[in-house]
Amino acid sequence: MHPMTDALSSSPSVRGEVDRDTLVQWLNTYLNIRAYPDPSLNGLQIAGTPLVRRVAASVDTSLKTLQDAADSGADLLLTHHGLFWGKPLPVTGPHGQRIRTALMADLNLYAAHIPLDAHPEVGNNAMIARALSLQNTQPFGDWQGHKIGLAGELPFPLSLQDFADRVQKLTGEICLVHGGGQPNVHRLGIVSGSGAEAIAEAAEAGLDTLLTGEPEHKHFHDAFEYGVNVVYAGHYETEVFGVRALAARLEDEFGLPWQFLHHPTGL
Ligand SMILES: [Zn+2]
Repeated sequence: MHPMTDALSSSPSVRGEVDRDTLVQWLNTYLNIRAYPDPSLNGLQIAGTPLVRRVAASVDTSLKTLQDAADSGADLLLTHHGLFWGKPLPVTGPHGQRIRTALMADLNLYAAHIPLDAHPEVGNNAMIARALSLQNTQPFGDWQGHKIGLAGELPFPLSLQDFADRVQKLTGEICLVHGGGQPNVHRLGIVSGSGAEAIAEAAEAGLDTLLTGEPEHKHFHDAFEYGVNVVYAGHYETEVFGVRALAARLEDEFGLPWQFLHHPTGL
């Protein structure tokens, strides 16, 4: 353990800066990153400067988000979709350029994928559920034996159109609606990002509506045949919540200023 860990956890006297290894250890523990068999290399993906004073957050890791993070003076980029997805890649082409950009800027890159969908406080699904005032929430949305989403009840039923409008207000983007279920939305399941495969599970759980991010063609007929409404609010748009909430949590914990780098994909 780094010698600063104890000093910081017992008396957070140096607000506004934190030793990178302490920060990474705190994140790994807070997000419980070892709990998920997620091949996307959750944790510190690129080591940069050993002292972190400023954080940037983004949904994706791209040349643009890395460059913007470096230009903003961030010492660490916190991201939902990192650079590694379970297979070795040569450090060439755009992948190499991304890594080179981070290293040249001495920028740390920390990625939190499934653990940040599933997290009970700052997770994408928890944040959306809170924004929609979902009640009596239960774990929902199986991912490799782990429930990473949430199901619950809206405080009062809304028509499917009113619900889609409510979600649109939340994300700022128009939703794609497949009205396979009853006309009102009351019992809702939420799986951020790519969660269309939860339609069958939603039907089994007696939910009338599934809110997820990205549509997948192979699940089109499921909504109508299982009798579940599906509201697709965008992969990107349903996953801005987690990194922002996590960056805000770091500000609370360590006093680090942060900035969200908004690079919507429209998907
Ligand atoms: Zn995602």
